Amino acid sequence: MPTFTPDILQGQVALVTGGGTGIGKEIARTFGRHGARLCIAARRQEVIESTRQEFEQEGLECLAVPCDVRQPDQVEVVLQETLARFGRLDVLVNNAAGNFPAPMAGISYNGFKSIVDIDLLGTYNFSKAAYDAWLGEHGGNIVNITAPFEQMGAAYQAHVAAAKTGVNSLTRTCAVEWGPKGIRTNAIAPGAVAETEGLDRFGSVGDNSGRSGPLGRAGSKQELANVALFLVSEAASYVNGQVISVDGGSGVDGLKMPMP
Ligand code: NAP
Repeated sequence: MPTFTPDILQGQVALVTGGGTGIGKEIARTFGRHGARLCIAARRQEVIESTRQEFEQEGLECLAVPCDVRQPDQVEVVLQETLARFGRLDVLVNNAAGNFPAPMAGISYNGFKSIVDIDLLGTYNFSKAAYDAWLGEHGGNIVNITAPFEQMGAAYQAHVAAAKTGVNSLTRTCAVEWGPKGIRTNAIAPGAVAETEGLDRFGSVGDNSGRSGPLGRAGSKQELANVALFLVSEAASYVNGQVISVDGGSGVDGLKMPMP
């Protein structure tokens, strides 16, 4: 039984960065299954094109535009192509991100900069471009996919933690500055999400399986997408500027005591 009515996003247009794979792909698919027309944008043309075809076979309408979120001129092209094809934009999901586990002194100068450029600047680039092109005049929703590191030291994640903490800050500033324009901006901080590139990359570092968390398992991509759908729906019409943890309670498990 579906959680939401299938027409909850009917007539809307959603743009998902990094929407060709992983969590972004599931968010895009879920939005599509609830009525939205889609644009997905990422660097690898063959990946987004294959996802676009998969979506079209499922009956979803999808545009795929290659783009590096670090390049404002490419970002603006994605907005132009989305508006040319669909004539509107209702939802932006800033999901594209890079990651590799490394101790702080082991990250190269360029590696650290690269993650900040993709995660933080990329989120800024797309948010600003979407605001200028459409959202500033018409309102809408922005959802930033961040990470659960703002209040903790995150070994092997210095670059990601710094970048995503900046994204959380941007989320709150957008909420305050753009709320009066009818734009709600929120963020989702996932815990461990099963069957994702993100989690695969951490196989060898610490316990990232989610098994040690209160629910004893990792989350699913669908569970993340459900929260994204809630946030952009009218059900969340008074939710703005929040970073919502979707982590099975791992973030509030202060003592991490094994339970019987
Ligand atoms: P993923 O499959 O690797 O997704 C990342 C996407 O971003 C890819 O589609 C990638 O496509 C795109 N991307 C990377 N650099 C880009 C760039 N410069 N320009 C445009 N697109 C770019 O990983 P995921 O695990 O689903 O992660 C999705 C989001 O969830 C990320 O924001 C991540 O930080 C967050 N997250 C994930 C987990 C987890 O357990 N998986 C936990 C916490 C947070 P291209 O390479 O083709 O560009």
